[in-house]
Amino acid sequence: MKKTCLKAPYQFERIESPVPEISDEQVLLAIRQIGICASDMQMYHGLHKYMTFPVVFGHEAAATVCKVGKNVKGFSEGDNVTVEPQVFCGECEPCRSGFYNVCEHLKVMGVHMDGFACDYYAIKPMYLHHAYDLNDDYTALIEPLAVGIGSARRGNVKNKTVCVVGAGTIGNLVAQSAKALGAEAVLVTDIKDNKLDYAKQCGIDYAVNTLDKTLNDVITDTFGARKADVIIDCAATPGSILSVLQAARPRSVIVITGNFKVPVEIEIPLIQRQEIDILGHMMYRRIDFEEAIQAARDGRIHLKDFVTQHYSMGSVAEAFRFIDENSDNVMKVMLRN
Ligand SMILES: [Zn+2]
Ligand SMILES: [Zn+2]
Repeated sequence: MKKTCLKAPYQFERIESPVPEISDEQVLLAIRQIGICASDMQMYHGLHKYMTFPVVFGHEAAATVCKVGKNVKGFSEGDNVTVEPQVFCGECEPCRSGFYNVCEHLKVMGVHMDGFACDYYAIKPMYLHHAYDLNDDYTALIEPLAVGIGSARRGNVKNKTVCVVGAGTIGNLVAQSAKALGAEAVLVTDIKDNKLDYAKQCGIDYAVNTLDKTLNDVITDTFGARKADVIIDCAATPGSILSVLQAARPRSVIVITGNFKVPVEIEIPLIQRQEIDILGHMMYRRIDFEEAIQAARDGRIHLKDFVTQHYSMGSVAEAFRFIDENSDNVMKVMLRN
């Protein structure tokens, strides 16, 4: 079989490798399709702080169970599955309290260890989720959607006015998840009209361009004096978090879901004097994956046209180059086996 390895920044290698043997406790997955994520792009650019080259990338998979170890229960040959790619120790305090998404020894498949840019993958069933009748695109979108669900859950958005800053892949899915989890009204902001148009197509209540307006004005125009109970930063730039702090009202909750690449100087009294809660948010837990699959199946999340391009795994270099050159017009690019 073939594995696709990111050898160094901008350098892929397709390597021939034997199909993995499975133990009695594992299943063998045939990988049908994987999504390319912003974190894959960060590795591609050599800017990912927490990984080392070479790595077989890929953490957003649509796969078919093609062999089942004799002690495995709950999965059979032919099942459509997706993978929750966190490998955690199970022993640290966060793991023992059920928050393995912030395990002190967390490793992610496709980042710190081999991922799914390959034909076959041996894995324990504890990492798998049934994706039932979801198609290849939707199945591979469950992982980023679970980030959205995790973020909305972290913000405790039910019956709240919610503003999501950034309407890209994650911002869109966070905004849709907030609606799916019962937010009263959801506003998404961006500076790209095409991303905002797509957010509207996905059923987000308000999608507003902040190129010529402050976030504070947009939030006030949308929600009135109540402003935003919850603001979720998916843009993750110094400018975005500063505008979020300016737009927060006393006792707003701010969730940080985007990956900040540089340190930011912030005015602490804005937080202290207004009793603002700033919550970090990392990935997802099992409940978020399950909710994501359910929401994708029952139509609470709009995933139609979310995938903007498909490439074959053999054209991996072309796919990454395309994303680099067209980031304004790309929602999600898939690689097919
Ligand atoms: Zn991802
Ligand atoms: Zn742990």
